[in-house]
Amino acid sequence: EVDLQRESVIKTILQLYQNFTKLMHDNERDTLTGLLNRKTFDKKINKTIMQMQASAKRKDDKVANYFFIAIFDIDHFKRVNDNFGHLIGDEVLLLFAQLLQQTFRDTDPLFRFGGEEFVGVFACTEKNDIEIILNRFRQKVESFSFPQAGNVTVSSGYTEIAEYDNSSQMIDRADSALYFAKNNGRNRVECYEKLIASGQLKSNVKEGDIELF
Ligand code: GH3
Ligand code: MG
Ligand code: MG
Repeated sequence: EVDLQRESVIKTILQLYQNFTKLMHDNERDTLTGLLNRKTFDKKINKTIMQMQASAKRKDDKVANYFFIAIFDIDHFKRVNDNFGHLIGDEVLLLFAQLLQQTFRDTDPLFRFGGEEFVGVFACTEKNDIEIILNRFRQKVESFSFPQAGNVTVSSGYTEIAEYDNSSQMIDRADSALYFAKNNGRNRVECYEKLIASGQLKSNVKEGDIELF
């Protein structure tokens, strides 16, 4: 009896220790938020592109056909640090990351890219879904009351991932849309392709870039 109890206690402690060391040595994750880190982005994005190419070949209607990448950047985050200190700033980042995880699907990977910059990769069955889910998140952040800092808003820029895209180009496009959001009032979602189509943004494709058709 006592031996059995002791065995189960030892097992529990071992499990806790394993979880702890796993987190300590998980070099795919950011230590503050637990989200994937920037280093793992290229690996994951290449997997997404391969998944896209495979589903395009199958012409399967049931699988997600549209893939998007979005960059989220907290608005005026420097003010949070300036007004409440770095520790409260870190708490906002942690809670923000939790809101991201609560809002989006487990199958859509989320990354902490830099200080207060986050990236998500989204698979959608309908092209219009992305605008809806990104705005839903934007509103969720806007209405969330952060324990110390109060209200915080977020801007995001997104772009559709093309079948033969590359990671730095898609980041550049999403970043241009984000930059537009920042210069046009913040607390908004902007789409690179829509901004190009409406002439509000000039194409990112640099002169001299080779286009293959
Ligand atoms: P904008 O609306 O244009 O994005 O303004 P911003 O103030 O959010 O942007 P800016 O890039 O000027 O400032 C980002 C700030 O984020 C500056 C830096 O001190 C802070 N920061 C970066 N990493 C961390 C972190 O890990 N913890 C905390 N607390 N702050 C961080
Ligand atoms: Mg920033
Ligand atoms: Mg910011």
